[in-house]
Amino acid sequence: MSKPKKRPACPICGEPSNAKIKPFCSVKCADIDLGKWFSGAYVVPGEPVDPEALPPGSGEPDED
Ligand SMILES: [Zn+2]
Repeated sequence: MSKPKKRPACPICGEPSNAKIKPFCSVKCADIDLGKWFSGAYVVPGEPVDPEALPPGSGEPDED
């Protein structure tokens, strides 16, 4: 028994995704998704990332 390969659905409209622009079905849906990113719709709620909270000296050359 082999399962037929199921194409993942477009996260925007649910249509079968297009291999060229997956996971989306069309450029239109890809644009919609991009717009969501820019509008902050995908911002993960929870801990805010504070760049100043990073440990000191990370990534800096060790001057001695
Ligand atoms: Zn779509």
